[in-house]
Amino acid sequence: MTSDHAPGGAGDRRPLVMYLCVQALLFLATVGCAVAVPGAVGVVGVIVNAVMVAVSAAAVVAGIRVHRPTRPGGWWLLAVSQVAFFVGALLFTIGVGFPGPADAVYLCVQYPAMIAALAVFARSRTPTWHRGTAIDAAVLVTSASLASWVYLLRPAVEAFGAGPLGAMVVGVSYPVMDLVMLSIAVRLSLGGGGRVLAHTLLMSSLAMWFAADVLYLLERVDGFFTDTSTTTFGYLAALVLVGAAALHPSMTGLGEPAGAPPGPGVSRLGLLAAAALIAPVILAVEYLRGTLRDVIVIAVACAVLFLLVIFRMAGLVSAQRLQAITDPLTGLYTRRFFGPALSDEITRAGRSRVPVALLLLDVDHFKRINDGYGHPVGDAVLRAVAARLATLCRSGDIVARYGGEEFAVLLPGVGPDRLAEVAERIRASMTGPIPLADGREVLVTVSIGTATVPVDAGSPEDLVRLADAALYSAKRGGRNRVVAASTDRDAVPA
Ligand code: GH3
Ligand code: MG
Ligand code: MG
Repeated sequence: MTSDHAPGGAGDRRPLVMYLCVQALLFLATVGCAVAVPGAVGVVGVIVNAVMVAVSAAAVVAGIRVHRPTRPGGWWLLAVSQVAFFVGALLFTIGVGFPGPADAVYLCVQYPAMIAALAVFARSRTPTWHRGTAIDAAVLVTSASLASWVYLLRPAVEAFGAGPLGAMVVGVSYPVMDLVMLSIAVRLSLGGGGRVLAHTLLMSSLAMWFAADVLYLLERVDGFFTDTSTTTFGYLAALVLVGAAALHPSMTGLGEPAGAPPGPGVSRLGLLAAAALIAPVILAVEYLRGTLRDVIVIAVACAVLFLLVIFRMAGLVSAQRLQAITDPLTGLYTRRFFGPALSDEITRAGRSRVPVALLLLDVDHFKRINDGYGHPVGDAVLRAVAARLATLCRSGDIVARYGGEEFAVLLPGVGPDRLAEVAERIRASMTGPIPLADGREVLVTVSIGTATVPVDAGSPEDLVRLADAALYSAKRGGRNRVVAASTDRDAVPA
């Protein structure tokens, strides 16, 4: 047995198993009561339910104490929410009309604590909000808001509007709170990070919660609020799942920061397509039922969804383009970008009669670094060389990884006189030791070949050919030096 699974340790699953057994027994007792007293859970059922809620709340606290998450804030807020539900359920059982003290506890403590818990998890998991994921979340929330408006909110406003203002505010507050909760849950789920079991349990709990809330509201709005057992089971299942999430060892990973979210996969695209289709489906259903009243709201939702999809596509296209022109190892431009950029600059330079310089740089004996230190160190050296190049160049210069350990720099406005000085500065700066992650240092030198338009060449092809020939001369001349195409015989020795 590893220490991770020692009794009471972070990997101990026994509290979870015991908890589930206790809740299952209590649940069976509740079902027994519901069967024995049809239409109502009865006094014994109410007591059993109260025990289930209390056990769920205790499970969250026990989970925090057993697994000791580094960021327990969200879990404590869930515990507060569980306790508030317990208090609210007791007040509801006493039964003092609608709205009553139970609603005050639910709306002022229980829902806000649940929302705050989700927000804490979402913030600590994804501190920086990725634009594409934000748009995906907006698509889901827009569709859910439309469905909520058509089938829950407007009917609730109309049903409760006839009564006192307090009843309407309270009645409408529940679906509004649900929408807020859904928005944060969507962020928590789409934002990236490992799908630990605690996360799945928590999301399943929210799904049960939303389902129970929708049923509850439909029952109230339709005036058939006589049987609470269906919704009670939904709420109970939701609470039990929260307790299970807190007791599962993976609960410590729920608030841990996640890396950048992956690109949209097939399941994400399917979900987004389904969400985007909700608006036209509602339009068709309401039209066929002869109850179409929200044409403007549905039209606005369609327009918002359409614009969100366009934004998402534009983002994906520009990300794709950026990926094509960016070298993944160094972050510099790729050769694919450099070729057309070189042609453009030379055309522009011809029009404005300013010179353009090209500098080709090759790391000397790089193979020895790979052979002596290993490929990952070779990669780190390439990254360091690229970073040094990027800091030495001005904003208008174009720096690219031209090949394996070969780099190209295009310097618009630089003629042969300044080029020698710039190239020598770059060569000299590369000789400084490159620190490695393990504390060691690597020394590298580079050879550089340069050429300019219009002095050495008139076309992009000639410019590259001459700079390459000068680089070859620098290698032949002993490396760690700069050779200009125009003075190929006068290599600048280091
Ligand atoms: P010279 O001074 O003549 O340029 O010698 P060199 O060893 O630098 O040149 P050579 O062309 O013999 O070797 C280049 C090496 O660069 C071979 C190749 O494995 C390595 N290389 C190319 N791309 C990468 C890369 O992305 N990462 C690492 N680590 N090595 C690479
Ligand atoms: Mg080399
Ligand atoms: Mg090379």
